Amino acid sequence: MEKAVLITIGDEILSGNTVDTNSNFIATELKNIGIQVTRIFTISDEIDTIKDTLKTAFELGELIITTGGLGPTRDDKTKKALAEFFNDEIVLDEVTFNHLKKYMEKRGRLDILERNKEQAFVPSRSLVFQNHFGTAPCMMMEQNGKLCFSLPGVPYEVKPLIKHQIVPYLQEKFSLNYIHTRIVSVVGIPESILADTIEDWELALPGNFALSYLPVGTRVKLRLTASGDNEEALKLQAEDEVQKLLPLLGDKVIAVSEDKIEKILAEILTERKLTISTAESCTGGELAKMITSNPGSSAYFMGGMVAYATEKKIDILKVSRATVEQFTVVSEQVAAEMAEGCQKLFDTDISLSTTGVAGPGRGEDGKEVGTVFYTIRIKDQEVTSKLYLPHLERLDFMDFVSQKVIQDVV
Ligand code: ATP
Ligand code: MG
Repeated sequence: MEKAVLITIGDEILSGNTVDTNSNFIATELKNIGIQVTRIFTISDEIDTIKDTLKTAFELGELIITTGGLGPTRDDKTKKALAEFFNDEIVLDEVTFNHLKKYMEKRGRLDILERNKEQAFVPSRSLVFQNHFGTAPCMMMEQNGKLCFSLPGVPYEVKPLIKHQIVPYLQEKFSLNYIHTRIVSVVGIPESILADTIEDWELALPGNFALSYLPVGTRVKLRLTASGDNEEALKLQAEDEVQKLLPLLGDKVIAVSEDKIEKILAEILTERKLTISTAESCTGGELAKMITSNPGSSAYFMGGMVAYATEKKIDILKVSRATVEQFTVVSEQVAAEMAEGCQKLFDTDISLSTTGVAGPGRGEDGKEVGTVFYTIRIKDQEVTSKLYLPHLERLDFMDFVSQKVIQDVV
């Protein structure tokens, strides 16, 4: 397996102003093609530091990826450090300049082309990967069969460069095996018990498989990665293993594949041409956020409201005051009336509601922290369920409840 070293360059990361998300993204993408990141350095925008770190990195791995410090501003020094380190000169690259010109033209910013021309200067021996989302190109230098890629720092420029240009380039160059990943998301089972439950299956996995546990909130994602040279055979082999795993986990499985539960919901709603709306109390909008995090959600999500105060549940969602008085606001009956009111308000096929006590304090009517009622109303049918989650922190609670509601809909 090839070894990679990542270098994140930028004073803003060292000072704590920016969280380094690039390394996380790049390491994940490299792992998918079987390249292991063995070291990550975070360093300042100083020419000598950059050169020193490059030297160390070349001793440690076959592949080096740097991000940051390629901007046209004075504090960005990476390019100069590269030229010095590789003993190369920086020259104007016509192809890159034309790309830059087109990029500026598209944005109606030809007026500042001259000021950005700097970006089309690259080390003379570099291989350039054009940046379609910014002005600084990615440059690759080769030395004794080892590769060094330098990328800009902006995460939304880094992602497409890595995913669509560098990863395919590396796969081709090193004839890397195809990697196939399947994810099985599980809820309501602690990681240690999960590990015990599937131990025999895990131990019997073929040698080209690897399993990792990724806890996300109250979910655990089991990631099964298989590598091999035949893409189709690999997919079948992975499917086979997933099918052996599912019966061991029963109804604890909420999703299979890479897809998030909200994406699965989106597919179902789009396919059946159904609309949905939300009326939330204790989830504070998390449910709506989860649904709308999926691109294209405007096709089925009509809207949602956070009716936090009891009076608003009565005023806007038309929950009856008598129901609140008789059963309290955190009750099956109020959840049901919220969903009904919401369905009318937004005129949707489906409506979802939540009412509960997220904590840390008790609800005004003395209901225990962690108590939730939620209703799923589809056309004129409704189901209200209760959850009791006293062990969850407030944000995890909101996340869990929202996940659970969506899971029940799909
Ligand atoms: P630009 O052309 O935009 O100047 P650059 O290559 O000079 O690109 P930087 O100036 O180092 O990049 O960073 C640009 C932006 O990207 C900054 O907002 C910075 O906080 C952010 N950024 C840089 N490195 C990282 C990183 N490792 N993780 C997340 N964000 C980063
Ligand atoms: Mg910078």
